[in-house]
Amino acid sequence: MQVVELIERKRDGGRLADEEIHQLIDAYTAGSVPDYQMSALLMAIVFRGLDESELAAWTEAMLHSGEVLDLSAIKLPKVDKHSTGGVGDKISLPLAPLVAACGVAVPMMSGRGLGHTGGTLDKLESIPGFTVDLSPERFAAILDRHGMVMAGQSATLVPADRLLYALRDASGTVAAVPLITSSIMSKKLAEDLDGLVLDVKVGSGAFLPDVERARTLAETMLAVGAAHGTPVTALLTDMSQPLGAEVGNAGEVAESLAVLRGEGPADVTELTIRLGVEMLLLGGVAADAAEAEGRLWAVLESGRALDILTAVIADQGGDPGVVDDPSRLPSAPGRHVLVAPADGVVSTCDARTIGVAAVRLGAGRAVKDDDVDHGVGVTLHAKVGDRVVAGDPLATVAWRDERRLHSCLELLPTAWSLGPGAQPPPLIHERMTT
Ligand code: URA
Repeated sequence: MQVVELIERKRDGGRLADEEIHQLIDAYTAGSVPDYQMSALLMAIVFRGLDESELAAWTEAMLHSGEVLDLSAIKLPKVDKHSTGGVGDKISLPLAPLVAACGVAVPMMSGRGLGHTGGTLDKLESIPGFTVDLSPERFAAILDRHGMVMAGQSATLVPADRLLYALRDASGTVAAVPLITSSIMSKKLAEDLDGLVLDVKVGSGAFLPDVERARTLAETMLAVGAAHGTPVTALLTDMSQPLGAEVGNAGEVAESLAVLRGEGPADVTELTIRLGVEMLLLGGVAADAAEAEGRLWAVLESGRALDILTAVIADQGGDPGVVDDPSRLPSAPGRHVLVAPADGVVSTCDARTIGVAAVRLGAGRAVKDDDVDHGVGVTLHAKVGDRVVAGDPLATVAWRDERRLHSCLELLPTAWSLGPGAQPPPLIHERMTT
């Protein structure tokens, strides 16, 4: 196979044959196509796209780059949720145990931080000892024991996505409907699901910020789900400002635990419940949305979801002591408080700017093999609609490296603008279903 021919053809607006796509993904997964050629092809796809049949072949090739899970021994309905990527988006952590406690199994295969957005795997790895690298057998066993499991793509599970995800992150090739669709749907189809809920982000912190492109992304993923016989529901949700108050790995884990204690921020709690409702409906364990919501609130108040998460943390090698004592999570030593320059009402608290500032601190990666600093991050004190007076704290930065702090502070203050009045944006813009 002449990879350069494929790159040139896609660059010039041509199409790739199914067989070529399968050979390419297999060869890249086996290590025989270099990253520089694959990133050139990915960039050509960013500009030229993939048509429906190319996308189907690309997704299939990724899905079958490793083992597809056989979870037929799990008798409960299996439903997962995936977000297209956001800032402060820690919803998966409280959501999975809540839904599991309602009788729906959640075999969750997540991703790492991508671009300016955080990733569930990096968040989970801030729990000392926690492993996201599970064999298919261990994945299935943990799911069977607790009704949920949280892991990543591995050498055996969707290895093509593990490699392409990291390459896209470092080559400016994330924001493309076919690449996001194939990445998400290959992971989700490998999970042997009965239903999938997609949280498609809209707003500055999303990879596709405007609502039309987000809708196209949702429609494309719904169509791939339908072609595989997997029912999918998508919520288009707001990502113009970060979710919750914490942006940064360990801080987001602590905030997720607070949600499960009933002490979390209203937006994170509400979105968790709304996505949970969709999962219970797809799982067929609630007759309607009102019943599903009632069950989720009851489980939240009972503390059962926190018990499930504690058991999963222990089973995946993590320190379950973090649940009662979040100070066991890593924390960077430095603190810098950013204050309001004037009186006013917050009219913007820009998700993308805050996400990029957090990456500059070390919460995400600039190049593929960068280590993530789990203890750095930004705690927001003022979001859209909040009234502040000059000198009030807007955010606290937890930092470790002075040069990184300076780089973060060159950007972070520009995230806020103040005006005479503003309302928080609606959390959910639209619902779409197959
Ligand atoms: N989440 C994924 O798993 N892949 C993407 O490309 C974007 C978000």
